[in-house]
Amino acid sequence: MRKKIIAANWKMNMTVGEATSYIETFLREIGDEKRVEIVIAPPFTAIPKVSELLSKVHTVNLSAQNMSAEKSGAFTGEISASMLRELFVRHVILGHSERRSLYGETDGIVNKKTKAALEANLKPIVCIGETLVERDAGKVEEVLDTQLKGSLAGLSAEDLHEIVIAYEPVWAIGTGRTATPDQAQEAHAFTRKVLAEISSQAVADKIRIQYGGSVKPENTKALMSQPDIDGALVGGASLDPRAFSEIVKFSAELS
Ligand code: PEP
Repeated sequence: MRKKIIAANWKMNMTVGEATSYIETFLREIGDEKRVEIVIAPPFTAIPKVSELLSKVHTVNLSAQNMSAEKSGAFTGEISASMLRELFVRHVILGHSERRSLYGETDGIVNKKTKAALEANLKPIVCIGETLVERDAGKVEEVLDTQLKGSLAGLSAEDLHEIVIAYEPVWAIGTGRTATPDQAQEAHAFTRKVLAEISSQAVADKIRIQYGGSVKPENTKALMSQPDIDGALVGGASLDPRAFSEIVKFSAELS
């Protein structure tokens, strides 16, 4: 049984003050929810404060939205894995489609970052997903296969146990257009098949695959009840602590 993992990706939103009142409201709303793993990914500047606010809470884990593949040195503007670990960050989102399309992140870069994260004991959430042009051209499987094999190249079975995959069709991110539960399930089942090819069926069966792309309280149950959907990576709706807590609760009810 894979425990569902519900993650909030705040992107470039939330000042420290806003993050503080969000966390206070969110913790009140979710109470002692333990049936799903909850993850929040604030922008770097809010991580120290959110880390402090979550320090006595064992139900919510902290994530970064990105990190450098390098350990230290002359990389102006970058943040390393060990800097994140120092702030008790547990996960890191890697290869988000915005990083891929706006900042030129390739599968090779995602692979380097994934290895650097694992070396520092951070758990990568590796994002994959096709564009609308690729879907319309019938290339969903080809794209997912390439992204998975490129991003996860050279990882051992032990490494793969530490990672989470987020399937996020690019055409559904921030657009209000969600993949249907069937479309999402099909892509997740295919992703698990590729993970089994990369490693083994036993390993693939343990890896959690999140869905991301306009997840809202209203569509949570239909998506989260699919057999290969093991959680959600939520952008827009995660900016409202009440909406995000509803997504958490609706997912937990299915567990
Ligand atoms: C995301 O950015 O990971 C995402 C899924 O965004 P949204 O929920 O806004 O589509």
